[in-house]
Parts: sequence; C-alpha cells; structure tokens
Amino acid sequence: MESRELLSYLPKVDVLLNDINIISIKDVSRNIVLESVRETIDEYRKKILSGELKSFEYEDIVNDVLIKVKKKSSMHLKRVINATGTVLHTNLGRAVLSKSAIDAVINAASRYSNLEFDLEKGVRGSRYSHVEELICKITGAEAAMVVNNNAAAVMLVLSTLSKGKEAIVSRGQLVEIGGSFRVPAVMEQSGARLVEVGTTNRTHLYDYENAINDNTGVILKVHQSNYKILGFTEEVSIEDLMQLGKKYDIPVVEDIGSGVFIDMVKYGLTYEPTVQESIKKGIDVVTFSGDKMLGGPQAGIIAGKKKYIDKMKKNQLTRALRIDKMTLAALEATLRLYLDESTAINEIIVLRMLTLDIETLRKSAQKLSKMLKSRLKDFCEVEIIKEFSQVGGGAMPLENLETYVVAIKPLNMSLEKMDYLLRSLDVPIIGRIYKDRMLFDVRTLFEEEYKIIADSLYKISQE
Ligand SMILES: *Cc1c(COP(=O)(O)O)cnc(C)c1O
Repeated sequence: MESRELLSYLPKVDVLLNDINIISIKDVSRNIVLESVRETIDEYRKKILSGELKSFEYEDIVNDVLIKVKKKSSMHLKRVINATGTVLHTNLGRAVLSKSAIDAVINAASRYSNLEFDLEKGVRGSRYSHVEELICKITGAEAAMVVNNNAAAVMLVLSTLSKGKEAIVSRGQLVEIGGSFRVPAVMEQSGARLVEVGTTNRTHLYDYENAINDNTGVILKVHQSNYKILGFTEEVSIEDLMQLGKKYDIPVVEDIGSGVFIDMVKYGLTYEPTVQESIKKGIDVVTFSGDKMLGGPQAGIIAGKKKYIDKMKKNQLTRALRIDKMTLAALEATLRLYLDESTAINEIIVLRMLTLDIETLRKSAQKLSKMLKSRLKDFCEVEIIKEFSQVGGGAMPLENLETYVVAIKPLNMSLEKMDYLLRSLDVPIIGRIYKDRMLFDVRTLFEEEYKIIADSLYKISQE
C-alpha cells in the first residue's frame, strides 16, 4: 500500500478518544489520554512516511495508546525485583531499608518533627543531635556528623582540613567507584591539592614522610573498596600514619568506604576493617557510606576527634551537603538496630541477606523452582544450580558468597527477548544472564516475590 493511502487509514483523534477501550481508562487525567492519543498517531504518521511501517491494524494503535497512557501515568522510579544476587546493587538502589527505618521515614515525612528544635530548651537545635550520640556510642568516636553521601563527606573533610593545602595519598589508593566517584576528582573539588606518593602496589612510611612540608593539610588513607592489589604489596598501617601525623601535627583521615560496624568474619565473610577498629587505632577522622554494608539510607557519616568535627560543622559547605530529614530518620532507626548485634543481623536487610546460610538458600531455591516448574511446563527448562552471589557496593570485592540460583532456559523465545519482557513488567524483574540461561538468585529475593516471578513468567509465556 502506498504511504499516502496508508495515512488516510489513520484514525482521527476523536475516534480514538471515543474508543471503548480508551473511554474505559480510569483514574487518569483526560489531558494525559489526549496527549497519548496525539503522540501515538504522530508516531504512526512518521513511521508511515519514512517507509518503516507498511501496514497496521486499528487495534495496534489502540494498544499503543493504552501502553503510552500507562507509562505516562505511572511512577518512573519504581520497585523492581532484584534477582541478580548482588546485595548492594548501586543501580538498583543499594540497601533495602529495615521495617523500623521505613516507619521512621513515614513518621518524619508525614508530620512536623523536632528536626532542628531542642525540645528541652525550646530553642533551635542541631540536625545532627539525633544521630551523633548513637554514632559515637557504636563506633567509640568523640564526635560525629552526617551529610548527603560519602563522596560529600570526603569533600567536606578535605575542604575543612586541607583547602589550599596539600593532601597526601598513596598511588595505590586512588580509586574510582562506579565511574562517578574518583577520589582524585573529589579532592580537586574540595580545593585540596593532591600529592601522590609511592607506587600502585607499594607505598612506604618514608614516602609519606618525604612528601610532608609546611603546606601539608592532611594525610588521607582510602580504602580500596572495589578492587584488591594482590602479590608484592605494601600499605602503611593506620598506626604508623597516626605516629607520623602526630610528629608533624597533621590530621590523618580515612575514607573507609563501606561502613562496617560488625566483624563479619564470625558470619563466614572475609575480613573487612570495621569503623570501630579505625577509631580505636586513634584515627583523627573517618568517613563512610550509610547505604553500603551499614544497610541504611544514602548518607555520608563523618566520625572522629571533636576538634576536627566541630570545624566541619562550621564549614559553609555543610549547608549544601546537608542530610534530609527522611534520610536522617532512616539513619537513626538503622543505627538503633546496631545497639544489639543479633537485632542488627536479623533486621538490617543487607546483613540478613549476607548471612543467609546455604541450607536456607537451597530450600528457597527449591521452593521457587517448584513454583516455576508447575506454572511453566512447556515454556522453559527449570533447574537449580549452585552459584555465587556478590556483596557489591564496593565492599568485599573478592567475596564469593555460595548460593543457589534457579536457572531457566526458555524453549521458544530468545533470552534477550525474555530479559526485555521481564524488564518491561509493572514490577520489573532483573535477573542475571549466564550463558544460555537466566539466573534468579534467591539470596536477594523476598519470599513474596516468588509468586510475582512465577505469575510474570507465566504471563510472558502466554504472549
Ligand atoms: C563507595 C565509596 C565512596 C562513595 O560513597 P557514596 O556514599 O556512594 O558517595 C567513597 N569512597 C569509597 C572508598 C567508597 O567505597
């Protein structure tokens, strides 16, 4: 058919607006419906004119309008099912909050709060007062404050202690995290001048000492979160750096990355330095994230000696980096859980997922696999495979957590197509493609999600 003739078959806006399926759309403003109708007709017209579209059915247009209306009227930021097995998946929002943290957010958001009001004295209070004592109690630090995230924390610390001065850092610690956070770039933004010492694999105490001069602001140690240098390596310990700092009266700052409060070795994970250890070794200032191993909301926590923390609280930059009240509420509730270790392990979702034992995981995989098998007989092969989950979030890069995954292999559909359809669902499901299978790692799944996965795959199999 010629494109001009095809164009003449395009329905008019009014016709579509009066279509029974489109009239029946509920709870959506008519503006959105009208806009969707117009845009859909326009898209068809363009495709016809470019020759891309050679024929169409009236029903196709109605369907596309319905899809567009749904997309325009639903939240863009939505819940997804994380079946990847990566517990701290930065692209999927890192830590899932505990029940008490969620309650605290709702409480802080729905009514007024004493965010910056001292209820005892009836005067203006400090935003940090809600968490400072808790952080000090848990970590042993003298003082603490919180900002938007750890990148902001590092920036504030350097801006306060080393603006216009030099900050000494080992070449082995010039890390980039997830493309957007490079330690050297953040340092530059803070106004500190970076002085790199040592080599990628070895930095000695004398490398630091040789770099010290009258214009040195801080000595910075950065935790190599997402990679490890193995083999012929040497890093200077916090104790030695502290001695050096004392000798020249220069503060020593550590960006520890993931804020671990509990020694996870007890729970079968690899050693990751805890915040308490750094404080105990006398570090002047330590910074870490709220939404990595700590398992709370996105936040940057700064803990250490009072004289330095006080300076940071007065820095004007603090106003730009300040933490929001909902985040603060979630953080306080999360920190409270740490007052009892077993409560923390059981209720902080990140810690619970990381410490799941293999037998529990095996049973969960069996349960999911059974549900999938009974619903998807001719659609795919379903099997259970022993695999590995990842911690993610720049913590424990070498940790391979044993897990069980349910692997499915579609019989009459490509994996790419299935992956696309899973991502297009109302509640998108993000799995992991491995060879010719799609893996669903039960470690990062919630039990109520098994049914959603089974129903969704069934729906896809009927398409
Ligand atoms: C993750 C990480 C950061 C960035 O933390 P955000 O909270 O994501 O800003 C900074 N430093 C190190 C060492 C990290 O691992």
